[in-house]
Amino acid sequence: MKALDFSVVIPVYNEKNNLPELIARCLGACKGTNRRFEIILVDDGSKDGSRDIITLAADLHTEVIAVILNRNYGQHAAVFAGLEQSKGEIVVTLDADLQNPPEEIPRLLYEMDQGVDVVGTVRQNRQDSVFRRVSSALVNRIVRQTTGVMMHDYGCMLRAYRRSVVNAMLMCREHSTFIPILANSFAGSTKEIQVSHALRKNGKSKYHLAKLLSLQFDLLTSMSTFPLRLLSLMGAIISACGIGFGALLMALRIVYGASWAAEGVFTLFAVLFVFIGAQFIGLGLLGEYIGRIYHDVRGRPMYFVESIKGESVNQTNENVLELKEGRIE
Ligand code: UDP
Ligand code: MG
Repeated sequence: MKALDFSVVIPVYNEKNNLPELIARCLGACKGTNRRFEIILVDDGSKDGSRDIITLAADLHTEVIAVILNRNYGQHAAVFAGLEQSKGEIVVTLDADLQNPPEEIPRLLYEMDQGVDVVGTVRQNRQDSVFRRVSSALVNRIVRQTTGVMMHDYGCMLRAYRRSVVNAMLMCREHSTFIPILANSFAGSTKEIQVSHALRKNGKSKYHLAKLLSLQFDLLTSMSTFPLRLLSLMGAIISACGIGFGALLMALRIVYGASWAAEGVFTLFAVLFVFIGAQFIGLGLLGEYIGRIYHDVRGRPMYFVESIKGESVNQTNENVLELKEGRIE
């Protein structure tokens, strides 16, 4: 397997109109670095003909590799599929919609040359809706607090990772992953640089509200047991309220007599409701974690690669082939 200096991994989902410019600009930017590179375009089950453009690009350019997934698995699964095929010492990820200019790739490489494991980016004059900005600011804050990793912009996928970090990520087979944060948990040193951010030229964002919320929820639960801690905290608060309420009822009972408190029935109900509430919250949260365990224990692959075009048969595949053909004992 010949090692390359860097790989660019791009997930593509219905980006037909962006692809020609993306491929041209990426090739231009990468060739300008005078390093050996490959561009891996991962088709995440597009239905608009993006797949044909990617396949054609792989035929036309030796540097381009097309990875075609058999259906839509989501952006992060698609990036994983690309990472698995990548051979570069450095891997750069990028969105296909040209919101992150490919011309920034050399700057990322320059920063990697300084010896860091991960280079993250912060979008200057970010071109997203106010809702997106607010929600991502919120998530960045929570992630920073719970994981202790200091990065300002997790939403920006224009990032560079060292091979060791990529290999570590590939060992993680959990489903709900968020690559930038996963990478940070394996990175010895990280750096952030400012990059420009453009408006989406063609097509719409693939993330609507529900998908965005689910992503943020994934992000939170996949990285920390903070919700579990929240459970104990809420339990404590609810119990305290119950005790306070009980004390109040008792005081009123002493003042107004047994007939006021309906012979203690009020107190009983107050206490009961508090406990029932707490139990339900606890059950809900436990259910969430059990669901995740179930999901991961099943160990289903995150995706199936349908076909790979271009020169990207990796070593393990070759070995398996040789093994099957009896060439290796
Ligand atoms: N994408 C993908 N699969 C999906 C959704 C998105 O591969 O299910 C790709 C998409 O083609 C783009 C990148 O992920 O290259 C980011 O998507 P988008 O621009 O819609 O996200 P946003 O910039 O709005 O966060
Ligand atoms: Mg985008």
